[in-house]
Amino acid sequence: MLDKRQFYINGQWVDPIAPNDLEVINPSNEEVCAIISLGSSADTDLAIESANKALPSWSKTSKEERLKLIEKLYEIYKARWNDMTESISLEMGAPYDWANEEQSKSGANHIKNFIKTLKKFEFESTFDEESDNHIVYEPIGVCALITPWNWPINQITLKVIPALAAGCTMVLKPSEIAPLSGMVFAEMVHEAGFPAGVFNLVNGNGEGVGTQLSGHPKIDMVSFTGSTRAGKLITKNSADTIKRVTLELGGKGGNIVFADSDPDAIKRGVKHVMGNSGQSCNHPTRMLVEKSIYERAVKEAIEQAQNTKVDIASKKGNHIGPVVSKVQYDKIQNLIHTGIKEGANLVAGGPDRPDDLEKGYFVKPTIFSDVNNDMTIAREEIFGPVLSIIPFETEEEAIAITNDTDYGLTNYVQTQDKEKAKRVARQLKSGGVEVNGKGVSGGTPFGGFRQSGNGREGGKWGLEEYLEVKAITDWK
Ligand code: NAD
Repeated sequence: MLDKRQFYINGQWVDPIAPNDLEVINPSNEEVCAIISLGSSADTDLAIESANKALPSWSKTSKEERLKLIEKLYEIYKARWNDMTESISLEMGAPYDWANEEQSKSGANHIKNFIKTLKKFEFESTFDEESDNHIVYEPIGVCALITPWNWPINQITLKVIPALAAGCTMVLKPSEIAPLSGMVFAEMVHEAGFPAGVFNLVNGNGEGVGTQLSGHPKIDMVSFTGSTRAGKLITKNSADTIKRVTLELGGKGGNIVFADSDPDAIKRGVKHVMGNSGQSCNHPTRMLVEKSIYERAVKEAIEQAQNTKVDIASKKGNHIGPVVSKVQYDKIQNLIHTGIKEGANLVAGGPDRPDDLEKGYFVKPTIFSDVNNDMTIAREEIFGPVLSIIPFETEEEAIAITNDTDYGLTNYVQTQDKEKAKRVARQLKSGGVEVNGKGVSGGTPFGGFRQSGNGREGGKWGLEEYLEVKAITDWK
C-alpha cells in the first residue's frame, strides 16, 4: 500500500499539520491501495501563504524563463509517462492501455499545446495605430485549481500549465478519490525546478480544502472541473471575495444521427459513450436517431454494447474498467432502475455487475431505446456506460431535443451532407460540436454553455483565463 500522506508546499513535501488519513480505494478490487491525508484549514493557509509569497517574483519572470521551465517539465513528463499511467490506472480503474494512450497522453498533449500557445502569445500590444493606448496582459494572481477524478491529469494539466505560463502561482487540490496522479505530477514539477511556492498541492475534500480555497480572500481565481452541484457551491462561496471563477461542469451531449450518416456512425457513438467506463462530461449520452434507420441503429447499438468487454484495470487490452467508486456505482445502478421504471426499453446490459466479476465497481454496458427526452435518464448526467436512444423525424425536432437540456458542453452530428451538418451545428447550444467522429484539434477551446460552465480551457482561450487585461494611455 502506498503512503502518500504528505502535501507539496513551498517547494517541499511536508506532513499535514494534524494527521487525517483517507483510504484510496482501487475500484477494480475494492481494496485500499494508498493512504492520503485530508488537509485542514491550517494546511490550506500554509499553501496559500506560500503561493502569495512566490507571486511577486514569479509574476515578473519573462515568457522565455517560464517557457524554459515548462519545456523541462514536458521532458520529465515524457520520461515518467509510465508512472503516470500506473497511478491513473490504479486510482480510477482505467485499463492500462486506456490510461496510457488516452489519459496520460492527454496530459502530455496539453503541456505541448500550451508551450505552442505561450510561444505565440503577446503579453503586450498597441491597441490600434491611431490611439496612444497600450494593452498589457498580467497574471491574475494566486489560483486555486480544483480537479476531478475522471480525467485526472487531463484536468490538472489544463489548469496548472496555463496558470504557470501566465505567471500565476497556485494551490492544486486534486480529487481525493483519485489523488495519486496529481502527486506524481507534483514530483515532476519539483524536478523541473520551478521556484518554491509557485506550485503547491494540498489533498482534501470538497467541504474542507475545496471550500477553504474558494472562500479565501488571498485566492484571486478558482478554476474548477467537476459536478454542477459543486460548481454552484463554489460560485456562491467565492462571491464575497469577487474572485474570478471558471467552471467546467457536467454535460448531457446529444448525438444526432441522420439517415444519411456514414456506416460507422452508430458503432462509433456507442463506443464513445462506453469509453472511460462512461465517465466523461462530454460523452454523447443521448443518441438521437432518424426514424427511417431507427430499427437498424438499435440493433447495431446492442451489438456494440455486447462486444464491449468489462474487466479489471491492470489487464492490458481494449476492455473498459470499473467506475471509480461505490458512490458512483450506486448512483448509476439507481439511474438504470429509474430508466426501467419510467418505461424506457432496456435492450442491453442492465442492473448489477457483469456475471463473471464478483468484486469491483463494474457496470454492464447498458442501452435504453425508445427513450423520451423528459425521462430522468435523458436529463441527468449518469456518468457510467449507459446510452439512451431517442427517435426523431425532422431536423428541427432533432435540434430542439438536443437543446432541451440544462447542459451545453459538446454535441455531435452525423451526416454526409456537409451543408446540413453546418446548419445544424450552428443551431446547437454547446461549447463544441463534433461532426462525423472528427475530434477537436489540440489547443482548441473546450467548455460549456448554460449549466455546463463558464470559461474555456485549452489554447489562447485557456491562457487568457489566468490573465487580467490592462489598458494604459499616453504610451507613445
Ligand atoms: P465533485 O464535483 O463533487 O468533485 C470534483 C472535485 O471538486 C473534487 O476535487 C472535490 O473534492 C471537489 N469538490 C466537491 N465539492 C466541493 C465544494 N463544495 N467546494 C470545492 N470543491 C469541491 O464530483 P463527484 O462528487 O466526485 O462526482 C459527482 C458527479 O459529478 C458525477 O456523477 C458526475 O456527474 C460529475 N462529474 C463531472 C465531471 C466533469 O468532468 N464535468 C467530473 C467529475 C464528476
